[in-house]
Amino acid sequence: MSKLQFDGGWEYAPAPESTDHIEVNERYGLFIGGEFVEPASGEYFATTNPATEQQLSSVAAAGTEDVDRAVRAARNGYDKYWSKLSAADRGKYIFRIARMLQERAREFAVIESLDGGKPIRESRDIDIPLAAAHFFYYAGWADKLDYAYPGRNVRPLGVAGQIIPWNFPLLMAAWKIAPALACGNTVVLKPAETTPLTALKLAELVRDADLPPGVVNIVTGAGDTGAAIVDHGDVDKVAFTGSTAVGRAIMERLAGQDKKYTLELGGKAANIIFADAAIDQAVEGIVNGIFFNQGHVCCAGSRLLVQESVADEVIAKLRDRMETLIVGDPLDKNTDIGAINSAAQLERIEHYLKLGRSEGADVYQSSVPVPKQGYWCRPTLFTGVSQSNRVVQEEIFGPVLAIQTFRTFGEALEKANNTPYGLSGGVWTDKGAKIFRMTQGIRAGVVWANTFNKFDPTSPFGGYKESGVGREGGLHGLSAYLDLVAGEAA
Ligand code: ADP
Repeated sequence: MSKLQFDGGWEYAPAPESTDHIEVNERYGLFIGGEFVEPASGEYFATTNPATEQQLSSVAAAGTEDVDRAVRAARNGYDKYWSKLSAADRGKYIFRIARMLQERAREFAVIESLDGGKPIRESRDIDIPLAAAHFFYYAGWADKLDYAYPGRNVRPLGVAGQIIPWNFPLLMAAWKIAPALACGNTVVLKPAETTPLTALKLAELVRDADLPPGVVNIVTGAGDTGAAIVDHGDVDKVAFTGSTAVGRAIMERLAGQDKKYTLELGGKAANIIFADAAIDQAVEGIVNGIFFNQGHVCCAGSRLLVQESVADEVIAKLRDRMETLIVGDPLDKNTDIGAINSAAQLERIEHYLKLGRSEGADVYQSSVPVPKQGYWCRPTLFTGVSQSNRVVQEEIFGPVLAIQTFRTFGEALEKANNTPYGLSGGVWTDKGAKIFRMTQGIRAGVVWANTFNKFDPTSPFGGYKESGVGREGGLHGLSAYLDLVAGEAA
């Protein structure tokens, strides 16, 4: 038993967030041209709560005909309304969305946790406030685009087709929609099939904010619906966040099409702990980096590289900490680790747990209790792994950490860079010089120092190698939605 525990561990009284104040319809249509409409096929599918396996609602399955209708609505919204508005007026609409999201933050947080399984502490403190922050940030850019690119004329691209994953549903919608609208585009957005509810709530909010019809369209469905967006001839830009496999398939489809695109894909980030780091803080950072949001984070710190002289100490502290993490009801404010997003994702994680064992890794799993109903995974460590093991190279997307040791700076850097990915990284050390050398050396879009998983709308985000193409966020995120032409700014 962990030395931090006694008498079976600390008991916290349950502190569940109330669901009284939220409203989820039994059924949602597609949000096209400013209103909810029936899908052409008449087909709907269930969205369930992964913590209880109970159905929350049913949502429309958009087919090719529906996607075409949404793209036509977006084109109409662009031609008739959005491109005719002044940039300042566009900005006012986006500010309005941001403010309304803040006002309804609690409702959005609860629905996010119900539909996706993430702890309410995260949806309340991270997802929803950051989503609002993105709308605020890009609203501010709407009438300043000429200053962002001196000496160039900026033009919107037209209609943006946007496909997002299930790990940060509302936040990803905000990452996509806010810069697109600020730059003068209209959008067709498809949320992931397991987490459509907050995007549909956002559609209601967009309607309540009186946005002109067709400026934001939300279509629900699975991979086929996404593929129909990618293939549509009148979509000018595709923005995708999701797995590397699907990203690769999308890139193949885009070859030969005249569309601008950004792809934000997988990761296998290394957190590097040097012997001179503040060990307790580093351990907390590692826990946050991989167990946060059940490891459903593309930039998760899913690998730990620890300097050999402190490896035993770090691993012992990690194991102790893992015994005190609370896995369970996502709506309980004490919960650290919520439900795995779906049965399919749990199966994928369990496949990797088996694979790790068969590759010869030592597996340590926390003994914390998990609920009987729903999809759960106890926090897990792999030790005794080598660089070529698949559990070191491939993205698992669950609360599973692969640990390796190193002796020298060069070895740490080499191991950190030796995967097909390059989305993020972390370095823990007392020495500023080491931080600078490491952040210069790691080939990843974002590297955190003595912290991890910190996000800000002003900061660009995106990957090297198989982690993606292009950048989102900050000033860089604007050019993904603009045509930049030579000439004096208008
Ligand atoms: P994961 O494997 O993590 O579930 P995916 O990459 O499959 O993530 O899904 C991310 C998003 O891409 C989802 O909205 C999903 O519906 C969509 N999608 C899946 N397959 C395709 C495809 N072939 N073309 C376009 N979008 C797709």
